[in-house]
Amino acid sequence: MNIEQSDEIDLLLGRMKAATAPLRTTLREIHDRGRGDHRGEVATYIPELAKANPDWFGICIVTAKGDIFEVGDVQQTFSIQSVSKPFLFGLALEDHGLDAVLRKVGVEPTGEAFNAIVLDEVSNRPFNPMVNAGAIATADLIAGTDYPDRLSRMLAMFGRYVGREVHVDNKVFLSERITGHRNRAIGHLMRNFGMVGDRFEESLELYFQQCSLLVTCRDLAMMGATLANGGVNPQTRERALDARYVKYLQSVMLSCGMYDSAGEWAFRVGLPAKSGVSGGIVAVVPGKLGIGVFSPRLDSRGNSVRGVAVCTELSERFGLHAFESGVPLESLEQQLDHRGRR
Ligand code: GLN
Repeated sequence: MNIEQSDEIDLLLGRMKAATAPLRTTLREIHDRGRGDHRGEVATYIPELAKANPDWFGICIVTAKGDIFEVGDVQQTFSIQSVSKPFLFGLALEDHGLDAVLRKVGVEPTGEAFNAIVLDEVSNRPFNPMVNAGAIATADLIAGTDYPDRLSRMLAMFGRYVGREVHVDNKVFLSERITGHRNRAIGHLMRNFGMVGDRFEESLELYFQQCSLLVTCRDLAMMGATLANGGVNPQTRERALDARYVKYLQSVMLSCGMYDSAGEWAFRVGLPAKSGVSGGIVAVVPGKLGIGVFSPRLDSRGNSVRGVAVCTELSERFGLHAFESGVPLESLEQQLDHRGRR
């Protein structure tokens, strides 16, 4: 991180603190209000997910400098589910480069449900890596000498994002595996079109494993902060993602990360984000913050009801929307001029 970025984070933090007293107080207030919202249903189509306590609720913000602000059930573990998808996309990009990955998975929003059995009619590719079809094609791209090696490369990658060793919840994994007929059907359809290779059944296993990784709300915020910090975990200082690919992850998160409400999300919240059916959401304020929210009750699209409400409020309250017209042209010109002269 350079000095200007660091100054910008301080400015934003200053703004967040000035908006209402300290940021923690603001988070507590948002959390208190959110607790009264009981709309939505816990996902039950994967039987293990149905066991979640619907009242779990955590909010965590980690800055690109590694400061942590949090409230509620931030240490409760849950399976990461689809929040894993952009990070696998990043690993596939590192393994094969942009062009090779884009031959197997597109970057167009679908407007369809996350588990839709649909491929692009012209290219036969899945539409994007944030829906199940694209995520399975992405898992198929993860390199390794054999299946255990691919799995351990994936676990090591998540470990770098969260700053500790990560583990798969075996019960969730088995639950996904036993009930995953739809995902298997998607895998077979893609095999038919050559979008996945011979080892696609192993890749499906890898996909079920990635969805079953145990994380906390704080982990999600740390993953977001790592993207905000150009791919480097702000606490461990370890690089989790090649800097070249950070923008690709974030742009596909912005356009496709919230399933069939991605358009409305980009419009209202304006932040790259990804949700999962266990109730987690990670959002990124590029260059500045990672936000993690966890609350298991989902809306009809599969996004956490409270998670969406929290991110919407944070974005509005602190002007975090990507297209907020914050920087006056004059100061931009000054910056450009200043840089030009160096
Ligand atoms: N494991 C889930 C599935 O494949 C992940 C979906 C999600 O979080 N939207 O159905």
